[in-house]
Amino acid sequence: MAKVFCIDVAKCSGCYNCQFACKDEHCNNEWLPYAAKQPMTGQFWLQVEEHVEGTKPKIKIHYIPVLCNHCEDPACMKAAENGAVYKREDGLVIIDPEKAAGQKQIAEACPYGAIYWNEELKLPQKCTGCAHLLEEGKTPRCVDVCHTGAIRFGDESEFTDFIKDATVRLPESGTGPKVYYRNIPGRFIGGTLYDPIEEVVVRNARCRLSGDGKSWETTTDIFGDFWFKDLPRGTFDLTIEADGFESLSFKALDTTKDSINLGDLPMTRK
Ligand code: SF4
Ligand code: SF4
Ligand code: SF4
Repeated sequence: MAKVFCIDVAKCSGCYNCQFACKDEHCNNEWLPYAAKQPMTGQFWLQVEEHVEGTKPKIKIHYIPVLCNHCEDPACMKAAENGAVYKREDGLVIIDPEKAAGQKQIAEACPYGAIYWNEELKLPQKCTGCAHLLEEGKTPRCVDVCHTGAIRFGDESEFTDFIKDATVRLPESGTGPKVYYRNIPGRFIGGTLYDPIEEVVVRNARCRLSGDGKSWETTTDIFGDFWFKDLPRGTFDLTIEADGFESLSFKALDTTKDSINLGDLPMTRK
């Protein structure tokens, strides 16, 4: 039965414990036949990516732990010679540290950049799924130290509910990744409405966003703020109406590259 990692981004606090634990487990520790020592610097078999969306003061930050996907059809395995990369019965993809020596093409083949080239040992290296711990009936170190349960590991059959609504990184790679993610936030468009004459925020303004064949509605809160969250990447039109004020409209707001904070928006009295 294939093993999978399931990562709930909404539960990840960005504490980096998993990243540190992976280093602690593998730096200066040789876990043959699965891995040579990981160097102290330059390699992160698990890396917590920080994603910052928007601009001050409307900023949203989320964290995404990334590691080898232990793919169903791994590009690294195809690039290897002499069976230097193999798949275990449980689906974990292992780089044999003896057979892989000198095979830099293995590191270059991974579409996720999950493999690091150890120049000193002339060796491609990556996450082993902590296969040495699994053999002792333990769980991978990164999973063990996650205090929020954001990163979990087990048989694919245990996680069918999680997986059915999950996404994977770069699905177009065609390698069949086995690290599943949920709750990766989409883009947002937000702003704050205020009355420059009275110098107060405008509450309960009606905000309507359209684009991508859909529409969304919200109202400003007690701080005059409006947020449209979890939007796809694309272009959107926004109209804002509030009793006693001229309406505002914005065309082609583009979330392709980043979320959008429209900032403080003055409303003109009729
Ligand atoms: S240990 Fe858990 S909560 Fe902390 S960064 Fe890693 S996945 Fe996120
Ligand atoms: S993510 Fe890269 S290194 Fe890991 S199994 Fe897939 S192709 Fe190989
Ligand atoms: S499973 Fe082990 S080797 Fe892989 S990222 Fe987690 S701690 Fe590192």
